[in-house]
Amino acid sequence: MSQTLQAVRGMNDILPDEAEIWEHFEDIVRDWLRSYGYRPIRMPIVEPTPLFRRAIGEVTDIVEKEMYSFEDALNGEHLTLRPEGTASCVRAAIQHNLVAGHGPQRLYYQGPMFRHERPQKGRYRQFHQIGVEALGFAGPDIDAEHILMCARLWDVLGLEDVSLELNSLGSAEERAAHRAALIAYLEQYRDSLDEDGRRRLYTNPLRILDTKNPDLQDIVEAAPRLSDHLGDESRAHFEAVQVFLKDAGIPFRINHRLVRGLDYYNRTVFEWVTTRLGAQGTVCAGGRYDGLVAQLGGKPQPAAGFAMGVERLLALWRESGGEADRAVPDVYVVHLGDAAQRLAFRAAESLREHGFDAVLHCGGGSFKSQMKKADGSGAAVALVIGEDEAAAGEVGIKPLRGPGAQQRVALEALPEALAMLMFSEEDDEDELGEGARDGSV
Ligand code: ATP
Ligand code: MG
Repeated sequence: MSQTLQAVRGMNDILPDEAEIWEHFEDIVRDWLRSYGYRPIRMPIVEPTPLFRRAIGEVTDIVEKEMYSFEDALNGEHLTLRPEGTASCVRAAIQHNLVAGHGPQRLYYQGPMFRHERPQKGRYRQFHQIGVEALGFAGPDIDAEHILMCARLWDVLGLEDVSLELNSLGSAEERAAHRAALIAYLEQYRDSLDEDGRRRLYTNPLRILDTKNPDLQDIVEAAPRLSDHLGDESRAHFEAVQVFLKDAGIPFRINHRLVRGLDYYNRTVFEWVTTRLGAQGTVCAGGRYDGLVAQLGGKPQPAAGFAMGVERLLALWRESGGEADRAVPDVYVVHLGDAAQRLAFRAAESLREHGFDAVLHCGGGSFKSQMKKADGSGAAVALVIGEDEAAAGEVGIKPLRGPGAQQRVALEALPEALAMLMFSEEDDEDELGEGARDGSV
């Protein structure tokens, strides 16, 4: 007997009960993004491997060990399933001359990302991000806008216990000065460092500050701080961001060890973290990346952005009462006999044409069993078509919830009769279809 096939480890099916919550969440998110003037962009899921190596950095967790890379079997091209969206978004903007040709861009995207990590709660191999990128903006205003918009989304979703951590990584030159001081400091503890630490001592010492190894916490806590190496401009930029946040009443904590796992960041970096999700508590992270456009071959442009982890945010949202915006049909159509079935098809299409949501019973069965299905569907009304109705070109309308007697109307009069019935029951107004609600019936 052949074994049943399973999804790849760390890659999840999202079944209808769950997917409906996702869609509700995505609807809210789309409205929120539009309210800040962000426009959608969609990039391929597969990109040339060098894009990520160049953008994210060779000595990072993602590039060193988390990428799904492969050779195209047909032409030998080196390809990678995208581990994040910023690199692709910037690549697309350069390729299509978005900023140089059309001015600064406020963009967003959403979709699956792939990283070969150890699967656990809140950490998957296929996960989803909603990413926001503002290309061509140099000032601290856009950094603040990004943080403010996150705070608004948490508010809209009713999330609690999400707090903001903030840091400045300065400029490349300032980081170089800090790096030298950091290496000199860490060299004293060379023997105490773990394998990752020793390996990164000279390649990416900043990342050592980010270590989760409990044995190294005292060492990294006392390490030289980047903030002591910031020049006037970086300092002023960072302070301006903080002024906007204070004006907006958004509390934050400056975390000197917040460095982010991707090399492209400079100046402002931030993370939104919660204590409610266990070890995987970062729900959103981002910052400024002024060098990336040039690094990927574009005309130099400042930029900033952030990405939210959808699985983690959804887990938090559900805890706060987030649920599906479940679609309930207005009408469920039951029928018995061949002629009735053909009339049922016409009746259901006519209703949809008039803006009602109608489910046509498929699969046969007795009237009784069909009525059970109608009830279970949550529909406000059952349309009943038997042999008599079919012969007369009429349909029966049977209210399933609320008052009203069963009536019989000609097919042509159906949409109007249904609208009368449903509009007269104000309590049921929630259940009307869009077209019916705006009166186009
Ligand atoms: P972490 O420190 O948790 O590995 P990261 O710094 O690698 O996060 P980013 O690259 O900044 O994460 O991605 C932005 C957000 O995407 C994260 O804050 C998190 O919410 C989410 N995320 C990242 N990796 C995963 C994953 N493997 N599974 C689920 N969500 C993830
Ligand atoms: Mg990671």
